[in-house]
Amino acid sequence: MKKNIAILGSTGSIGTQALEVIRQFPERFGIEVLTAMSQAGLLIEQAIEFMPNAVVIGNEKYYEKVKSALQPHDIKVFAGEDALCQVVQMDGIDLVLSALVGFSGLKPTISAIKAGKHIALANKETLVVAGDLVTNLAARNRVAMLPVDSEHSAIFQCLQGEFSNTIDKIYLTASGGPFRGMKHKELETVTKKQALKHPNWKMGCKITIDSATLMNKGLEVIEAKWLFHLQPRQIEVVVHPQSIIHSIVQFSDGSMKAQMGLPDMRLPIQYALSYPERLSSDFPRFGFAEYPILSFEPPDTENFRNLALAYSALHKGGNAACVLNAANEIAVSAFLKDKLGFLQISDIIEQCMDLIPFIAEPNFDDYLHTDNETRIRALELIK
Ligand code: MG
Repeated sequence: MKKNIAILGSTGSIGTQALEVIRQFPERFGIEVLTAMSQAGLLIEQAIEFMPNAVVIGNEKYYEKVKSALQPHDIKVFAGEDALCQVVQMDGIDLVLSALVGFSGLKPTISAIKAGKHIALANKETLVVAGDLVTNLAARNRVAMLPVDSEHSAIFQCLQGEFSNTIDKIYLTASGGPFRGMKHKELETVTKKQALKHPNWKMGCKITIDSATLMNKGLEVIEAKWLFHLQPRQIEVVVHPQSIIHSIVQFSDGSMKAQMGLPDMRLPIQYALSYPERLSSDFPRFGFAEYPILSFEPPDTENFRNLALAYSALHKGGNAACVLNAANEIAVSAFLKDKLGFLQISDIIEQCMDLIPFIAEPNFDDYLHTDNETRIRALELIK
């Protein structure tokens, strides 16, 4: 039976790679909805190839362009954030791939869960910001949350067949990013160009900077807590510069299971789309001769403070991770505009975590408010 998919963020790095996977299996997957923020040209191209029922262009100034291009193809065209929240509820959709960037993924993902759609989650910020709310909602609506993030996909794959066996600990692997081994002095002068050069993974801008600061791993620690119902002490990070082992589960008997393969996002994307089945692929495969050594080291949280800040948000709970995330989004965006140094990203986040009032049991509006308040504060601090 064909699985009909909605891709939120189809022109981004995850979105385009998902379409690469789907292109290989026209008999298995159909495209019901595609959405993009502002890459109207690429969205039109994708729509003409995959013939979805509807598309959404986030930035309303491109609405007319997309509409006139897709009218002859009988594809519905909508614009704006509200439309995004509505199209994910369409009857024909079986699975929503949430590949938006940052906080913007939260509302449409919640909307899809409420409509009972299964979620393939690439947008980790959704769980970082409002993990308790989102996971409870998913459980209530009997919706599967399938991880696309490679580390979480690895954990998820290691847990297959383990039923109720107790997890002792998980180890999330981190490449260490382009600045691994650098100390405070050197990090003071690193540039955006250097930060955007990830040694192993090809990804979007925001996540590439997050990888360089180790915030990506921090967000993933929080994401893992919610996806796998873990306590903070059960989640450890280990730096593994080759990015071959994508993460490890240790069970109560001490035995460890790891999932490995070349760093290629198409693999976890395909697994989330085809789960519980595995489909054959012709992706390049791991060769032992090319990787004679797989090495491991502890993360350097003294020079890369974002990971420590994320752990502190994880321990604190409530709206702390929402603050962490919003401050990080603003700081990263300022760094990408050369308005902030690399090390100041952590300063901004730390100050926001001190400044924004703590809420122990936030509801949805509290999250929106916290996010908004933090962004305003962070912008003031950067000015
Ligand atoms: Mg990851």
